[in-house]
Amino acid sequence: MKLFCVECGKETDDLLNGMCIDCYIKREELMKIPGRLHLTICPTCGSVRYKGEWKKKEFKDAVKEVVEKAIMVSPYLENKEIEIDLIRKGKTLYECKILLNGNIKGKPVNSEVYTELLVEKKTCLTCSRKAGKYFEAIIQLRTEREEEHRFQEVLEELKAFIREYQLEGRDVFITNIKEVKGGIDVYLSDNHLAKKIAQDIHSRYGGEKKASPKLVGLKDGKRVYRVTYLIRLPSYTTGDILSDGKDFYYLKSMDGKKVHIVNLMNWLELTCERKFMKNFSVVGSREMIKEAIVVSQSKEEIQVMDPDNYKTIELKKPRSVHFGRTARIVKTENGIFLLPTQKL
Ligand SMILES: [Zn+2]
Ligand SMILES: [Zn+2]
Repeated sequence: MKLFCVECGKETDDLLNGMCIDCYIKREELMKIPGRLHLTICPTCGSVRYKGEWKKKEFKDAVKEVVEKAIMVSPYLENKEIEIDLIRKGKTLYECKILLNGNIKGKPVNSEVYTELLVEKKTCLTCSRKAGKYFEAIIQLRTEREEEHRFQEVLEELKAFIREYQLEGRDVFITNIKEVKGGIDVYLSDNHLAKKIAQDIHSRYGGEKKASPKLVGLKDGKRVYRVTYLIRLPSYTTGDILSDGKDFYYLKSMDGKKVHIVNLMNWLELTCERKFMKNFSVVGSREMIKEAIVVSQSKEEIQVMDPDNYKTIELKKPRSVHFGRTARIVKTENGIFLLPTQKL
């Protein structure tokens, strides 16, 4: 069957809307866009709203997405490429020039349209909650040991957990950090994640954990609770020097249930259930561990320089390992101990 273009009458193999390719490109609009586009942006954090949901996005990318959603292009267009030029026309108004490139049945085509972009500023949910000091949960960190830096360490860990959740796109933030007697209170915007974070902290540091929900009201017919998670950190932590009254130990690592300690006399490693940790007392923290310069060493012995008085100390190696330039030592009232090499 022969096909003829309705515009120019030319015989053709392919009809697009009844026309040959040349007439189609000449006559038809290759792209259409509404006269005005809208974009809502949070002036505080720059989040962009799409269909009622706030998303973190670069302004440029947000504009591109809005344009691509609003634009209508010829169904015959292939290898579509869109370029957007924005010219600021007012406080919230932009002129938007859109360049389209592509091809139709192998023929390169391009088109150019203009529209307006109206940017509306509205504070997003997260920012308004932050401003209103909104919180759903409190994580209370307590310890028997009054040491500033321990809380700082756990707090940094907690912040790292939150950053991870934020990177996953979860909407969680710290509303407030309060120093209180015996510890710190961390106010969090999301109860569900606060619960997970409390678990994360607890499984890393051990100790006691308790959750106490408090009914604060109703929302959409559901009871709304504010939950306080109390974490009582154990008196010991990684890097501590412990004593059972007889020997000295180095606390190498720990998890939610078990503690790994090293006997400093013989470097034997022991794994201890949390509940048996009450048999140990903390004699010092990691600050007790000193880096000492190695003077000489044999298979069984090592001579190091005491960093406090530069005297040479001779110590027995519990195991025949080779030390590098330095060795870690601990001075206790019961003598000086050599710590295993970092690898052990
Ligand atoms: Zn034609
Ligand atoms: Zn915001």
